[in-house]
Amino acid sequence: MIRTILTEGHPTLNAIARDVTDDELKTPELQQIIDDMISTLKSTTGVGLAAPQIGESLRIVIVDKPMTVLINPLLTPVGETKDTSYEGCLSIPGMRGEVERHQAVHVEYTDRAGKRQEATWVKFRAIVVQHEVDHLNGILYSSRASFMYPDDTQHAPKLPQHNLTSGTPRQNGGRTFVIDSDKKVGGQQHFTFTFMDAGRLSALRIAPGGAMVTAVYLTGVRLRASGFKAGAVQRMLLGVDKGLHVAQGDQLRIELRLPSGRHRIVAEADFDYNAPTPSGHLADSP
Ligand code: ZN
Repeated sequence: MIRTILTEGHPTLNAIARDVTDDELKTPELQQIIDDMISTLKSTTGVGLAAPQIGESLRIVIVDKPMTVLINPLLTPVGETKDTSYEGCLSIPGMRGEVERHQAVHVEYTDRAGKRQEATWVKFRAIVVQHEVDHLNGILYSSRASFMYPDDTQHAPKLPQHNLTSGTPRQNGGRTFVIDSDKKVGGQQHFTFTFMDAGRLSALRIAPGGAMVTAVYLTGVRLRASGFKAGAVQRMLLGVDKGLHVAQGDQLRIELRLPSGRHRIVAEADFDYNAPTPSGHLADSP
């Protein structure tokens, strides 16, 4: 079964995964997890996958070409030589980063049949297995990268600009807005909400999760200086006076960077018109 790949921000990706016991390895449940990992990886363009990426906090990684299943892997660097490469990760879609890794590693692991194996892997395969074993220790490559950059976005056309003055009303008084791109788009984009009534914006959620929100402005006032994942927008807004007070005609401009591809951007905004007007003022975030 193809499983959902968790993306950065999910706590399982930051946890230390536990060893698989010999008895557990023989169970159909554990073998099924391995099969799921293989089908999930094959459904992507990736070359490796770690169990925590599908929500299983177990020390299992797979590396493709040829497909190798490593249970409880142990890595020992061979020599001092390091290589720099530009890594990507299925859990950080649309981004790449420059990372330095050991050029050669000795790999010890149990295979899916329960047999101990060892090998020395070099270059690309060594890089992949180091990246995957990092996942078992709750480490994403972004924390090792000297810099990160959006992948393959330079030549993609931009989304047409949308001024979202309407949307589908939601039960709680909020609205759901949808922008569909019918061709491949990517790179820096923005969209703007115009508020037709005064009120309090209590939440805002934006998909896709792979988008990086680079800035948020309310009628020209910058609310947030640094980039963050789209899923974090809700938390950011709630951090400002437990919601944002907006006046009629105010515009909330959201700037985001998208991985190249076809996107359906869904923004859900919740309004609470009955709440008292919050005191204080909006200030730049630290
Ligand atoms: Zn990864």
